[in-house]
Amino acid sequence: MAAKQVNYYDYDRSKPVECRCGWSGQPGAYEDYFHELLDVTCPRCDTMLLIVPYPTRAQTEEAAATGNEEAIAELEQIEERERTTGEDEE
Ligand SMILES: [Zn+2]
Repeated sequence: MAAKQVNYYDYDRSKPVECRCGWSGQPGAYEDYFHELLDVTCPRCDTMLLIVPYPTRAQTEEAAATGNEEAIAELEQIEERERTTGEDEE
């Protein structure tokens, strides 16, 4: 069974996930972070349950436009970083 891919801003760490082995729990405690995504693996049978790619700039802007507070904060950080980097590099 392929792991389910979830949009970053639709991912709810406190919403329980179920594995077909019978385990279920909140995914937040079982995340593994990688360069471009995080995944959630079943602690009982090691099946990958969820894949959550980090959001693109466009996804963040889209989520911010719908009022997602995490996205709005993230967007502010991105813009802040861009201002700072621009000054350093140009
Ligand atoms: Zn399992």
